[in-house]
Amino acid sequence: MREHAENQNAVQNAGAPEEDAGPGGKAQALDPVHKGAVREIAQDSRGPRSRGSERAVCAQRVRRGWMKAVHMLATAANIMRTLSGFAVILAVVVCAGADAQNLSPDQRAELLLQQMTLEEKITLVHGNGMPGGRGAAASNGGAGFTAAIPRLGIPAIQMADAAVGVTRGGVTSRYSTALPDAVSAASSWDVDLACEYGALIGQELRDQGYTMSLGGGVNITREPRNGRTFEYKGEDPILAGRLAGHEMRCLQAKGIIGDIKHFAVNDQETGRNIGNAILDKRTLRETDLLPFEIGIKDGDIQAVMCSYNKVNGDWSCENSYLMNDFLKKTVGFKGFVLSDWGGTHSTAKAALAGLDMEQPGSTYFGEALKQAVEKGEFPVARLDDMAKRILRAQFATGQFDVKTQRKVVDVFAGLELAQKVAERGTVLLKNTNDALPLNRATLKSIAVIGSHADVGVLSGGGSAQVDPPGGSAVPNAPAPTGVPLSMGMGGRPPVWYPSSPLRAIRAKIPDDCTVRFHDGSDPAAAARLAASSDVAIVFVNQPTSEGRDFSLTLPDKQDDLVSAVAAANRRTIVVLETGGAVNMPWADGVAGIVEAWYPGIRGGEAIANILFGDVNPSGKTVLSFARNEADWPHAKPFSADARGVAPFDMPYTEGLKVGYKWFDAEGKTPLFPFGHGLSYTTFAYSGLRTAVDGGEVAVSFKLRNSGTRDGIEIAQVYAGLPASAGEPPRRLVAWKPVSLKAGEQCVVTLRVDPLHLSIFNVSRDEWEVVGGDYRIWVGSSSRDLASSEGVTIGR
Ligand code: BGC
Repeated sequence: MREHAENQNAVQNAGAPEEDAGPGGKAQALDPVHKGAVREIAQDSRGPRSRGSERAVCAQRVRRGWMKAVHMLATAANIMRTLSGFAVILAVVVCAGADAQNLSPDQRAELLLQQMTLEEKITLVHGNGMPGGRGAAASNGGAGFTAAIPRLGIPAIQMADAAVGVTRGGVTSRYSTALPDAVSAASSWDVDLACEYGALIGQELRDQGYTMSLGGGVNITREPRNGRTFEYKGEDPILAGRLAGHEMRCLQAKGIIGDIKHFAVNDQETGRNIGNAILDKRTLRETDLLPFEIGIKDGDIQAVMCSYNKVNGDWSCENSYLMNDFLKKTVGFKGFVLSDWGGTHSTAKAALAGLDMEQPGSTYFGEALKQAVEKGEFPVARLDDMAKRILRAQFATGQFDVKTQRKVVDVFAGLELAQKVAERGTVLLKNTNDALPLNRATLKSIAVIGSHADVGVLSGGGSAQVDPPGGSAVPNAPAPTGVPLSMGMGGRPPVWYPSSPLRAIRAKIPDDCTVRFHDGSDPAAAARLAASSDVAIVFVNQPTSEGRDFSLTLPDKQDDLVSAVAAANRRTIVVLETGGAVNMPWADGVAGIVEAWYPGIRGGEAIANILFGDVNPSGKTVLSFARNEADWPHAKPFSADARGVAPFDMPYTEGLKVGYKWFDAEGKTPLFPFGHGLSYTTFAYSGLRTAVDGGEVAVSFKLRNSGTRDGIEIAQVYAGLPASAGEPPRRLVAWKPVSLKAGEQCVVTLRVDPLHLSIFNVSRDEWEVVGGDYRIWVGSSSRDLASSEGVTIGR
């Protein structure tokens, strides 16, 4: 009992203020306190207190600390105790110092760790099962959790999948905002919007009693058929990394541990638990690992989820190169690595390779790890490192300082952001003869066809699926068939959110215009409706999900539907609700194509705003769309056999040439290139200037809105490296969404981070800016580059 009380004291000395520390702490009003924490955590991880109360707490700590230190030093029975006493003295010294009263997350974690028993350390490093399972009684209802340790005031880590909003709300009767999918948000190319996206998810996680997100997907689109493309941020590693960093920084500022996943090269779902991705080191560093490197550094992300697959022969979750060498040593990642669900394969091998936490169970990191430590077969120092990393993440995100308090999420704020993201992420791919925007003053009849547009919009499936309020708008949708599954969840029926494009369109038109709907099941009848309408808007969809890759061909003969309608009405607009790129054999025959992705809970309203020009589209695709499926590097996802049950290799022979880099290098013309997206206004680029300043290239140019509507242009800068670098022809190195009123112009100046110009030098094991002649292009897509200039670096 006595030791118990002393330890509790030491924990408080370690920095957890007693009035608001974890279980047993005094509850505080969350919002004002939490807002304070948000500001301060980002700066120096301070707790959310006023200066005066900080002094009081500090003085109290000094008193307790000295007593504790004296007591501990006087009675030190062994070296551990003495070290602990020194640490407390350090705490006291730091606390007593002028403004640096508060300890760093590292120091706090270290002090706390020293009070922990073996059993308690083990408690931190494994999960306790999925909700409903044995041992999961203390679960908050999310995908996994680590148990609280009340003796030391250590709160539980309650995790929820939250790639596009907080999941599993249905079973717990909680509401969460179903945001547009990640590829939609990414298509805004806007790091500030990424921040808003992360902040909203972070707030809703907090409001629902969670303390950790399992979102943050950044697997690059190497395989266009990947069923999880909608959870990711496209095919460019720099863009994906920067967006993830901003999203997670703002999510973490809400007091939530952020996550970045699936580490690494989980670029297809087919056979994800048995496939072995094969990539050389340079390719790994420059493609699949780069978004992790950038995201973690930009966002100080506290958790990384290792993936199911193998990379170069070792499971990702026991791959020492990935976790120890790259992540912890090279990137300097200070947080913890957790396994994907069931992705742990061993005890000592995995833990020594850098895995810090097993989820969702304890097969390897529970009793087995404890016994290995007790028998002296596993180093205590490594277990300490694992536990400390987890504690550190909790401290760094303020979880000892602010008590979780549930409340109803701000539904209206969520709806507003969902619509804004959908409007910014929607990409106008084609608009012949200004078919769009629709003119409500002249239109007398509109045909709306297909894809359940009368009731809702499609969403992506699997663990990222946010439950629809009130259930799916299409309750009896059939489950997808025909493509190999890698696990059960890819077989669930797709979910439609109750945001009806038809209703939103009807709300926009005057009384003398009629809008008629056909479900698209009979192409001939739909074509008849189109023929008798001024304009035909055909909605098509491609349901995709975790656990399953998909065919690039739209299901249910939707291509035939589009062709029939386009043949009947020259003014046919196609609205795509897809998780990624699809084949569009009818593209040349339609007037307009709008890529709405999975547009979330306000998708219908956002689509209508784009169609009618109430919002000027500004999204640019973060994925290439091929003209012919045969133009992609691989004919289909890798698998050993039709069912994908035997282990197989995934030799990604295209290497560095991912997405647009492949099309550029191979001289293939995509249907719609990376970075493409139209506006209802036009933009003119001129006056490109480049200058080399140290290792950095400064690029400036004039951008003018040369049309008649206000709009946002995502100005893009690409670089071609010297031939000796051996790189694909061009890579994205900088960009900026620029908002300009009609007729307005501005000078845009962008500085290119040297990392963006670098190649990975394998023999020196470091990034290198190759000396030589570079070409810098500026323009509105990877294939629409208005002007270019040469620069010489390092010669
Ligand atoms: C997915 C992860 C997810 C986890 C927990 C796995 O199947 O791959 O992305 O976070 O389940 O739901």
